[in-house]
Amino acid sequence: MKQVKLKNGISVPAIGQGTWHIGDDPRMHDREVESLRTGIDSGMTLIDTAELYGYGKSESVVGDAIKPYDRSKLFIVSKVLPQNAGRKNMRRACETSLKYLGTDYLDLYLYHWRGSIPLSETVECLQDLKDSGLIREWGVSNFDTDDMRELARLKHGGNCIAVQDLYHIASRGTEYSLQPYLRRNDIAFMAYCPLAINGTLRSGIISDPVLRQAADAHGASVQQIMLAWAIRGGNVIAIPKSASKQHTLENAAAGDIELTEEELKMLDKAFPAPDREVPLDIE
Ligand code: NAP
Repeated sequence: MKQVKLKNGISVPAIGQGTWHIGDDPRMHDREVESLRTGIDSGMTLIDTAELYGYGKSESVVGDAIKPYDRSKLFIVSKVLPQNAGRKNMRRACETSLKYLGTDYLDLYLYHWRGSIPLSETVECLQDLKDSGLIREWGVSNFDTDDMRELARLKHGGNCIAVQDLYHIASRGTEYSLQPYLRRNDIAFMAYCPLAINGTLRSGIISDPVLRQAADAHGASVQQIMLAWAIRGGNVIAIPKSASKQHTLENAAAGDIELTEEELKMLDKAFPAPDREVPLDIE
């Protein structure tokens, strides 16, 4: 499994595990726990969740899944909702997430998306949580390049360690200015929906002949090629969600697939990056 080094010196797997919709159906609990544990055992020790996902249900399943593991070997990410991202609610929101997760700290806490609370207040609250040890690091989500520049101008804004935005082979808008900005500033990029929700965000991806050709060449699935493509640059962490043990094993194995220059060129042609700024894609 390839690793991504964060600016605090900690290395995390380039492919982690998403959890949106995990916990929605209680009958799926054991299957979801098994799948998350399979992922951890296969090197996907980074798990991404959020207070939003089932309002605690997703964090609870993650809490059950991680119980047998050495906490220090895991990298747990959760997110605070915009309405909780201020003085009044953030600490309580974070403590509630910790309770559901059955842990006493988060490795990374993300501001899920921008709301009406001033960004400066949110950053102060995130910094307070970091100073008091409830979170190790903080970052933001659904931010574009202008949002990042605004953040950088704020007191403590330079402490942002990661940005989580939508990114998959058919949605490359962040490559134009955001990803270069993040690389220059040593901020990691977390790619959500790296499988375009198994193709549902863009019709025709899963059956695309160029992706299929690369998949056949590597004895892999198209989904594995999409993940290998997302993490190709060394600064991107992809967080596919799977409640299937088989898919989880495949996602972990994608962390070792090396696409050739030729394959990358063909994929660029089939799925070109934009040559101008485009609005941030959001799910
Ligand atoms: P995704 O990871 O792009 O796709 C998930 C879908 O792909 C599921 O239907 C899953 O089904 C299927 N799948 C997974 N691995 C597969 C494989 N190897 N082969 C075939 N199908 C496979 O979509 P996502 O869950 O929306 O995004 C990933 C994570 O990003 C979320 O879970 C969440 O943690 C995070 N996220 C963050 C934000 C944000 O605003 N920050 C927004 C959206 C998502 P099975 O379960 O059956 O495998």
